[in-house]
Amino acid sequence: MKCTRCGAAAVIEVRRHNAAFCGACFRVVFGNQVARAIDEYDMFAPGDRILVAVSGGKDSLALWDVLLDAGYRVDGLYLGLGIGDYSDRSHVLTQAFADARGATLVTVDLADDFGYDIPTAARKGSRSTCAVCGLSKRYVFNKAALDGGYDVIATGHNLDDEAATLLGNTLRWNIGYIARQSPVLAAEPGLVRKVKPLYRLSELETAAYAFLRGIDYVVEECPLVAGNTQLRYKKAMNAIESRSPGTKAQFFLGYLDRGAPIFRTADEQVDLASCANCGQATTGTYCAFCRSRAQILGERLPEVAEAR
Ligand code: SF4
Ligand code: ZN
Repeated sequence: MKCTRCGAAAVIEVRRHNAAFCGACFRVVFGNQVARAIDEYDMFAPGDRILVAVSGGKDSLALWDVLLDAGYRVDGLYLGLGIGDYSDRSHVLTQAFADARGATLVTVDLADDFGYDIPTAARKGSRSTCAVCGLSKRYVFNKAALDGGYDVIATGHNLDDEAATLLGNTLRWNIGYIARQSPVLAAEPGLVRKVKPLYRLSELETAAYAFLRGIDYVVEECPLVAGNTQLRYKKAMNAIESRSPGTKAQFFLGYLDRGAPIFRTADEQVDLASCANCGQATTGTYCAFCRSRAQILGERLPEVAEAR
């Protein structure tokens, strides 16, 4: 198998493009796909301060690496979830990545800063483990970006993640979620702009990039992943992809091109207010994070605001 670009021995085959690449060419192709994503959605400009949410996994570290390599002003944000050895190892590898590149890693710890960890939230909260984890991440990422004066938050969601999310929302006809799914979520009062520069690249491609770049990442899955519905949709998409290479890309990138404009006309605009407890953007009196946290900690939010 030869590299489609230069003819040298190929190390990775990309079946959906009917192509194969050597290590050097794959790095260029990967960088070009990220640059195209940034450009198509006008995600950020060279002078912007970017905060990339890093979990210690291949996708977020690959994203941090490729953005640093392209010369962007990008710091990492690590959120400690308190999931035993898994979280400890994720933090060590993320810090080692930052140290090796002389990059800045901002660290927030859920237990130290907000009074609970994810295993506790799973036992005491009313949401599923991954739902409360996702809610906590979204809240902390936004707060850390606001506190640090960043222009944009970048996450390592790849094509597989986005296709699985779209499949899940389509199976339930969650019109509002479908309409709002985009590689860019614009800034709103109290909400920092969010971008997903890896949306054109598959999980296999980010894994190959991380391997070729010598990135040491957490390979094992989170031990609490069992109830994650997203994983089921990913497996379903993989089963189709293995028989029909290119299906994931046709589904998600096709949605962005042809489906999104139609769904957006059906989406209702919601007015945002400030959470009466923490000040972050919300559609109600209290934000979902403050309500969830109060329940986990067995606290009551002030009644005066509840009556509003
Ligand atoms: Fe959080 Fe669930 Fe992901 Fe584990 S699998 S890190 S609990 S969202
Ligand atoms: Zn709040």
